[in-house]
Amino acid sequence: MLIIKDISNLQSYLSAYQNRKYSIGYVPTMGALHKGHGELIKQSKKGNHKTIVSIFVNEKQFSSKEDFETYPRNKGFDYDFCIDNEVDILFEPSSEEIFKNDQTLLNNKNFKDILCDKFRRGHFDGVITVLDKFFSIIKSNKVYFGEKDYQQLKIIEKFIEEKYKSLDLVSVPTQRHEEGIAYSSRNEKLSKKQTQDFVDFHKKVKNFIGSLEGSLDIETANEKANDFMKSQDIDKLDYFEFRNDTDLSFVGTLSQARLFYAIYKGKVRLIDNLKV
Ligand code: AMP
Repeated sequence: MLIIKDISNLQSYLSAYQNRKYSIGYVPTMGALHKGHGELIKQSKKGNHKTIVSIFVNEKQFSSKEDFETYPRNKGFDYDFCIDNEVDILFEPSSEEIFKNDQTLLNNKNFKDILCDKFRRGHFDGVITVLDKFFSIIKSNKVYFGEKDYQQLKIIEKFIEEKYKSLDLVSVPTQRHEEGIAYSSRNEKLSKKQTQDFVDFHKKVKNFIGSLEGSLDIETANEKANDFMKSQDIDKLDYFEFRNDTDLSFVGTLSQARLFYAIYKGKVRLIDNLKV
């Protein structure tokens, strides 16, 4: 595996691939890699000749300095993880190099003021700004994103439609621990007790969803969701609601919906979404 830290070096390797008409799959990550990232890499390896993974903790998408500084970083492990998963190139540029020519923030206009965008103002501006840089540097054929960050996936889908028409977006279902919770880099910040509480919460959420009829309309289901959350012991709630999984509206029945939630355990913000 090649570990490349600067753009010009990366581009000379990539142009050799492009000259050979290799299909390149790209997996963007913020590191602290886990089996969710592993699945994205696996799918990229299946669908392309070469796979490139980036590790970049993007300061522009964090609303607080503390959250950015305490985001899990696990370099040695990540290198081994990429080697074990047979990644071809690991791209790990510095923030200075990525933002040196242009600091302008792009302005996301899609799926605004709802879900995470309502509670993390500017977060998705930071996400598309950095992806714009990486997409134009790497020029891969395909790019891989997880359903775990579903609103992000929808926003990126639109962004690619608008600006990178020849890039194929491949979405990958959420990978979960046996106990049901999704793999997430942020889980590393939870204590044992918080992890157990989170697992218990997730089980109750699944049972709650299971108790509802698929023909129920989303609006009514959300009244029930509010009642359900009143009896849950969580530290802070951003949102817990069903939405249509095509346009993220409240229109339709549960069989067309996903349940989206963002909750806190201590200071750790945890998000997930479940297809009904
Ligand atoms: P992150 O490093 O958290 O920015 O995530 C990088 C990519 O991995 C994003 O496309 C995420 O949606 C995806 N991802 C994170 N966790 C999971 C998971 N449990 N299952 C599938 N994909 C995931």
